[in-house]
Amino acid sequence: MKRRHFIKKAGITGMAIPMIPGTLSAATFSEEQKSFAGPVCIATWNFHEASKKAGELLKTGSSALDAVQEGVMVEESNVANTTVGIGGTPDREGNVTLDACIMAPDGNAGSVAYLQNIEHPVAVARKVMEDTPHVMLVGEGALNFALQNGFEKQDLLNDKTRAAYKEWLEEKKYQPIINIENHDTIGMVCMDKNGDIAGACTTSGLAYKMQGRVGDSPIIGAGLFIDNKIGGAAATGMGEEIIKNVCSFLAVELMRQGKSPKEACKQAVERVIERNPGYMDFQVAVIALNKNGETGGYAIHDGFSYMVNAEGKNENVKSGFYKG
Ligand code: ASP
Repeated sequence: MKRRHFIKKAGITGMAIPMIPGTLSAATFSEEQKSFAGPVCIATWNFHEASKKAGELLKTGSSALDAVQEGVMVEESNVANTTVGIGGTPDREGNVTLDACIMAPDGNAGSVAYLQNIEHPVAVARKVMEDTPHVMLVGEGALNFALQNGFEKQDLLNDKTRAAYKEWLEEKKYQPIINIENHDTIGMVCMDKNGDIAGACTTSGLAYKMQGRVGDSPIIGAGLFIDNKIGGAAATGMGEEIIKNVCSFLAVELMRQGKSPKEACKQAVERVIERNPGYMDFQVAVIALNKNGETGGYAIHDGFSYMVNAEGKNENVKSGFYKG
């Protein structure tokens, strides 16, 4: 899978932004596919194995909460994914720092940020949710909590990411213009047999970020939001923009107002575009699932796709997008 296509700087400032309808392209589950009767799983990007895992669990009666956790853990363990869990790309100091969150149908949530040396931050986030009076633990506190709860400390760097970091050190160039296809953050939303909805999101964040930087992924409302009455949404891309526009919460609120998941994602992404004329230089993508089992996704730039697992199929769907 090639993920090395960089966006060119467009230098658009202060211009009225034309609204170009997104391009829809066919997959077995087209974007126009409406509702799924049974359990449904959606996930950012093309994480076939993760959504397959969640789909299998849902089929056998697992709760949406267990399915999202187990599903995203597949990617946390995938060393080939350099933006999640083990094998994640480090920050500028060479440390892999992980952000993750989980949200349950009852509205409870747990989150960890700037967590180091733990392969499964989402599992720690779930413990925060279930075993503490808090929502979010960060850094050393999150690590201590994980260790006290039996998680093992391990080196998250490997030969490949160490070598890439060494190479990066030669120039130490941090480009805020980011790769539109190299955000491998997994955000997942599932609806189980009972119609209950849960979500999870996990990442090592932007490659070579500043030490201490936390992105949108562990922030409830930004990288993930669930309202079991309405649906759920997850985001990927430039975390700073997703935080500033509270994209996942926004998408859920738009669905509450009656928008389809696709339209809600589109409007959430358009909000980012409207508020930042520099949108040509970064990617933001949002996916959503509503209570009727309808799914949707939308991105600023071409190149984003998402998984839909439903009715025994596990398909990658090309997302609509604003600008090619
Ligand atoms: N949203 C993530 C972050 O900003 C990055 C990504 O989705 O790839 O940390």
